[in-house]
Amino acid sequence: MSRPQLFRSCSRLSPDVPELPEVETVKAQLAPVLTGRKFVSVDILDERLTRPFDPRQVAAQLEDHRVTAVDRRGKYVVVRFESGLVLLVHLRMTGSFLVAPRGELPEDPHRRAVVSLDDGSDVAYRDVRRFGTWLVIEEDELADYLGLRLGEEPLGTAFTTKQLARRLSGRRAPVKAALLDQRAVAGLGNIYADEALWYAGITPLRPAGTLADEEIAAVRRGIRRALRVGIARQGATLSDYRTPNGGRGSMQDEFKVYGRAGEPCPRCGTPIAKTRIAGRGTSYCPACQT
Ligand SMILES: [Zn+2]
Repeated sequence: MSRPQLFRSCSRLSPDVPELPEVETVKAQLAPVLTGRKFVSVDILDERLTRPFDPRQVAAQLEDHRVTAVDRRGKYVVVRFESGLVLLVHLRMTGSFLVAPRGELPEDPHRRAVVSLDDGSDVAYRDVRRFGTWLVIEEDELADYLGLRLGEEPLGTAFTTKQLARRLSGRRAPVKAALLDQRAVAGLGNIYADEALWYAGITPLRPAGTLADEEIAAVRRGIRRALRVGIARQGATLSDYRTPNGGRGSMQDEFKVYGRAGEPCPRCGTPIAKTRIAGRGTSYCPACQT
């Protein structure tokens, strides 16, 4: 590794990231760095990261243990150890990882943790807003912990129209608000919910419980399409990132409605409208999303 490599979501564009595609990208980049490596030392520099647990205790739980796998579930990065422990990282708004050869991490006032690996590299966790969390739990507690908080993985086979219909059934909240509930669709957030509803041709204002089965099927397809575009695009964007201040974001070129208020709808040419739903800025086409 010749220079520090930054693994981050594209937070210069929006406070709405990271969502599933950004976390998936971070996971895909961290996996080859961490898998099979031992955590030689762990320094947690901000006690907020592990609250309510003592950061020294959390660090001690991880030291001298080898990583067996790095996965993603919803917006969590899941680091599994051969000890049977799991480190669950939630990046929230501004969490990111930086990997560099030992001693070559640049100065950073926003560094919250550093892990030294047995291959001579250091992995830094940076978080400007400090909303990110590190939680260590036992592997056998993981399913219950995540099961309470997250619905199905939208790109997995268990995410069916029937399952989504159950989650939306009887809900009077706008469908956009219902989709943001992580127990409805794991990992979906503001950007990709807007994009998914545009693909589906469904207005975000519709009460969730009024959607017909074929409309729910369209929403499901829209969610999967929006997330796949996001994963593909984010990977391309992230490959340009090299330094904390560098990077060229072109992800916005792919957006159909998000961040495009007043611009023509790519499908029908009507200006994209903007409103607020569940406190979140929401973009949609007032003509072809019904
Ligand atoms: Zn339109």
